[in-house]
Amino acid sequence: MQSAWLVPLAMLFGLAAGTGLTLLVVLSVRRGHEAAEAATEDVPDGVEGMLDALGAPALVVDPSNTVVKHSPGAAALGLVHARALLSQALVDLVEEVRRGDGPVVRELSLSRGPFGSAARPVVVRAARLGIRYVLLLVEDRSEALRLEEVRRDFVANISHELKTPIGAITLLSEALDSAADDPQGVRRFAARMSTEAQRLSRITQEIIDLSRLQAADALKSPELVHIDHVVASAIDQNSVAAAAHRIEVRRGGEKRTTVYGDEALLIMAVHNLIANAIQYSPDGGRIGVGVRRVDDLVEIAVTDQGIGIAEEDRDRVFERFYRVDRARSRNTGGSGLGLAIVKHVVQNHGGEVRLWSQPGRGSTFTLRIPAASEARAAALGLESA
Ligand code: ADP
Repeated sequence: MQSAWLVPLAMLFGLAAGTGLTLLVVLSVRRGHEAAEAATEDVPDGVEGMLDALGAPALVVDPSNTVVKHSPGAAALGLVHARALLSQALVDLVEEVRRGDGPVVRELSLSRGPFGSAARPVVVRAARLGIRYVLLLVEDRSEALRLEEVRRDFVANISHELKTPIGAITLLSEALDSAADDPQGVRRFAARMSTEAQRLSRITQEIIDLSRLQAADALKSPELVHIDHVVASAIDQNSVAAAAHRIEVRRGGEKRTTVYGDEALLIMAVHNLIANAIQYSPDGGRIGVGVRRVDDLVEIAVTDQGIGIAEEDRDRVFERFYRVDRARSRNTGGSGLGLAIVKHVVQNHGGEVRLWSQPGRGSTFTLRIPAASEARAAALGLESA
C-alpha cells in the first residue's frame, strides 16, 4: 500500500522534531490519504486497480450508496464528498440499476457547485458490479458541447458572410439586365459586380486558409525560415494597395533573424497585418515593419498611424468574423478573418501575437515567435541550423 512510506517519513520528522509532532504528521497525512481514496472495503478483485488507471471519472457504490472507491477524476468533478454521492440524480440512477436487470446509460446535467445554476452536461453509464456494488462511469461532455457550439457558430457566420456578396451579385445581375440599353449603367453595374465577386473570392480563400490552418500543425515538418524573406515578400504583396493609398511601408530593425516553421504561413500572417495597416490608415500615411531579437524570440512588429482600436475591442479583433465597424469594413471589403488567421499562424509556431493601440493614434501588432537555435531545434526534434 501507498501508506508504507508514511512510517519512514514520520520517523524522519520524529528524529528532527520530537514524537508529538511525528504522530500529528502521520495522522494528518493518513487522514488526507483516506479522504482522497475512500475506504477500499471488499470491492471485487481488480476494480481498485482499474479505477486508478481510468482517466475518466468512475465510482463504485455499496448497497447503502456509500462510495467505496472512486477514480481521481470523480473527485475532481465534484461528484463525491465524504464518501457520499453529491448528486441526487446519480443516487436515483444507482437505484434504477438495482431495480432493473441491465446497465443504464443516461444524459444528465449535474450542478457545478453549491452556488449558482451552472450545470455540467454528462453521460453516465451505470451497471451492477457483482451482487453488492454498482459502478458508475461518468463522461464530462462540456468540452465536446462547447466545440460543437463553436462549429455551429462558425458555419452560421460563414453562411451569413457568403450570402451578403451572393445576394448583391444577384441584384446587380438583375439591374444589369434591365439596363441593357444604357451603356453607362451597364459599366457601373459590371464594376460593382466585379467588386462583389472579388470579395466573395477573398472570403472563400480566407475560410479555406483558416480551416487548413486549424487542421494542420505548422511545426510537424518545420523548416528554417529567414524572416528577412518573410517581411520582404509580405511588403511586396501589398505594394499595389500601398501605392494606391500613397502609403509608404518601411522595413527596419535587425537582419538575418531565423525561426523554425512554415514560410508561406508566416508570409500570410505578416501580409494580413500590413494589409490591415494600409486599410485602416489615412491616405499618405506611414507604416513600419520592424524586426528584432529579444532573448529567445524573434519579434515582428507592424506599426501604423491609423484609426486605432478601442480597448474593449482589442481582444475581440482576433475572433473569427469580428469587425469593429461592420459598415466601414464592408466598404473596405474586410471579412473579419484576417487577424484570426494571424493568431492561428503564430500559435502554430509556438508563439503569440500582441496588440498595442490607441484610438486616433494608431496600432502596433507584434508577432513573437521562438527564434531558431540549437535548443529550439532539439525541442522540435530537428538537426540544428
Ligand atoms: P478585416 O478583414 O475586417 O480587416 P481582421 O480580422 O483583419 O478583419 O480585423 C478585424 C477587425 O480589427 C477589423 O475589422 C478592424 O475593425 C480591426 N483592425 C484590424 N487591424 C487594424 C488596424 N491596423 N487598425 C485599426 N483597426 C484594425
